[in-house]
Order: sequence, then C-alpha cells, then structure tokens
Amino acid sequence: MYLHGTSKINAKGHLEIGGCDVRDLAAEFGTPLYIVDEALVRQRAREYVDAFRASGLKFQVAYASKAFSVMAMCAIAEQENLSLDVVSDGELYTALKAGFPAQRIHFHGNNKTPEEINMALDANIGCFVVDNFIELDLLNALAGEKGKKVNVLLRITPGVEAHTHEFISTGQTDSKFGFDLGNGAAYEGIKQAAELANLNVLGVHSHIGSQIFEVEGFRMAVDRVAAFAVQIRDELGLTFQVINLGGGFGIRYTEADAPLPVSTYVKAITDAIISHFTEAKFPLPEIWVEPGRSMVGDAGTTLYTVGTSKDIPGVRKYVAVDGGMTDNPRPALYDSKYEAVLANRANDPKEETVSIAGKCCESGDMLIWDLELPKVQTGDLLAVFCTGAYNYAMASNYNRIRRPAVVFVKDGEASLAVKRESLDDIVVNDVIPARLQKSGAAK
Ligand SMILES: *Cc1c(COP(=O)(O)O)cnc(C)c1O
Repeated sequence: MYLHGTSKINAKGHLEIGGCDVRDLAAEFGTPLYIVDEALVRQRAREYVDAFRASGLKFQVAYASKAFSVMAMCAIAEQENLSLDVVSDGELYTALKAGFPAQRIHFHGNNKTPEEINMALDANIGCFVVDNFIELDLLNALAGEKGKKVNVLLRITPGVEAHTHEFISTGQTDSKFGFDLGNGAAYEGIKQAAELANLNVLGVHSHIGSQIFEVEGFRMAVDRVAAFAVQIRDELGLTFQVINLGGGFGIRYTEADAPLPVSTYVKAITDAIISHFTEAKFPLPEIWVEPGRSMVGDAGTTLYTVGTSKDIPGVRKYVAVDGGMTDNPRPALYDSKYEAVLANRANDPKEETVSIAGKCCESGDMLIWDLELPKVQTGDLLAVFCTGAYNYAMASNYNRIRRPAVVFVKDGEASLAVKRESLDDIVVNDVIPARLQKSGAAK
C-alpha cells in the first residue's frame, strides 16, 4: 500500500491523515468526505519555490486554481508565496474573497467574457494571459475605457504536446488554445499586441499537456520559446521579460505512475532557459510555472461509506459507496485509475477482488475496477487516494446528490474548508414560475 504525505495506518488499523483518524473524521463530518493533507500541500508548494530559488532566476509559481479552487486553498497559496491562475469569474471571485493579492493573480482562458475582463481589470490583477486575436482587441479596448494599461502574456502553442510518457512534436498544433507558433500566428499576435496602447507585453506562455513524467517535452518547449524570443527581439525590438511554461507536472495515482521529483522538472526548465538565453546574450527572463495537479492531487483523499453490494458469481462483485461520479468524474471521463484502502480495517488481509461503484443512475459510474480488499461489509469506510485535484473542482449535483464537505487536516486538527451541501442548497436556485404554481404549492 502506497501512503502519501502524512497518511499512515495507526495502531487501531485505521487510516490516519494529518494526525486525524479517518473514522473520527467520518463520524464528525459524514461521508463522502474530501480530506486534504495540508502539510503535503505546503510541502509541494515549497518544493517548487525552493527549486526556483536554487536556480537564481526570478520566478513566480502560480498555482493553477482550477485543480481545486476553494478559499482555504487560496489562503494557503497566499501564505506559501505562490501566485494564482484563474480561468473564470468564479475562480477570480474565490481568490479575491479569500484575500488573495490581486497583483499575483493571472487570468487565463480561451473565451473570457467582457464581464470577466472588466471584473479582473477592476480588481487590478497582475497579468492577463491572452489567448487569441479577438481577446487582444477586446482587452485593449476595455482597459482603455478604464484608463488602464495591463500586463499581458500571449499564450502560444509551441507545437509540443506532452502526455504522460509520450511527447510529440507537431508542426501545427490542432488545439483550441493559443496563438500557433508554427503557422506565424504567434508572431503576428506579438506584433499586434506590441502596437496596442493599453497592453504591456511581458512575454509568452506555453502549456504542453498534463500528467507529464518526462522533462523532454518541457525542454523542447523552452527550445522553441527561446528561439521565438530571439526572433521577436531581432525583428521587432521587443524583449520578453517573462516566460511562462505552464503546468502539467505528473503525480502518482497508482504504481503505474512514476513522477519525477518537482526539483527535477524545475531544474530541467531553468537550466534550459539559462543556457539558451545566455547564449543569445538575452537578459535572463523571469520564469513562471503553473502547477495544478501536482500541488494538490496527492494531498487529497476521498472517504466513502460502503453501502450495498452485488455479487454476480463467476463474473464480478460490485461494492457501492455513498458517492461516485458526482464527487469524482475522472474515471468516467478519462478512465482514470485510483488506489484505495478499507480505511477502518487497513491491516486486514486482502480476501476478495471487488469493483467500486458509485450511486448514480449511470452504468459508467464506477470509481475503481478490480480492487483487492479484505471481505467488505456494509458500513466499512473506503478511502480513495490522490483525489485532491480535479475532483471537488469537477464535482456535480447529478441525481441531485449533494456535494461533500472538504476538511483540511494537520497535526491532529481537522478544519472544515467547505461545508457539505444541504438539501436546501439543492433547490436554492430553483424557481417555480407563477403560472406553474397551484394554490398552496411551495413558493
Ligand atoms: C490546466 C492548466 C494548468 C495546470 O495543469 P496541471 O496538469 O494541473 O498541472 C496550468 N496552466 C494551464 C494553462 C492549464 O490549462
């Protein structure tokens, strides 16, 4: 059994995270429950910051808040001196409400609405990562209306796509995001942006993929971005001050995953930057990265209570828990794999192979196929590991299932970060139009 961060099995044979026995957490907060190992989140943040400090370059480590955007997480990001990426007004609002410094917020997205841009302009965020030509003009116009000049990076697609162990170099990237480097759109974008009065072009951004386990893709992206920076300096006289290399650093969900240490990814990037830019006699740019999954993924555990089961002799045994695709849609969406333990009997010998089903009306609502567990009983607790990123963030109310609570655990203390939704929350935005109301019907 692989245990992340502060997780361990205590003398009672129970899973313990952040010094908290998960049976006590289930009793206090109910299940399903997202549990966040705060010390591990902080450790990851420090691994990034320390690795960049060691490089001697100026840097920003921007937590990609889409992975897990709640106010408590924004507060931790602030305390750990991270910057923050947002991609919607909702994520921006969450960060601002948490008191996150606006100057360290970067706004991403391929279709920012005028309302969202205005909100970000009013908040005086630090940087817009502009995705396309329409946004360049829109942002310039809206900034002008407010008498502001705003920092921008242009998101370019460098023609490198990386996914887990494979990375591919493509001449022209088929992607909805960014200005294509290969077909000249990136060059034209920078040229236009430099001429827009209300934009201050800091440099470029590139994000090559997710769950990446090799450094080659990042090196290749740096090669192309550096060559582009030199071309822009030589032909347009514009010097990039910032290069943003995005996120995508891989984590260990199961034994099939072999992520590199954070410091290895960072060193590959910073070494490549230093060598290219020194060679080109180019002032060393500030480097930004945007880890999402690797900041919070392995710090999260979802705790469920086992309910029913269905044994089909000779075929399979299904064991159903009190959550499912509503709190973790990733297996259904991406065929993602997870490891799990019977959290109240973690030392018991494994006796059966079962498949963990959710409670939604959907055959695809499966969390884990073919998991070896002790003989499972109704009322047992199942802990699924590595659910900190893109789980709460992607949770839904399908079947009108209430979203779980989130607790942060540290040094034996469990603190509520998100309340479990109530039944009233489920209908809070519902309205019965007057013409549909019978006298005496609920208002
Ligand atoms: C999703 C995304 C990230 C974060 O990716 P992870 O794989 O979670 O690290 C960073 N930057 C951009 C632009 C993204 O779209």
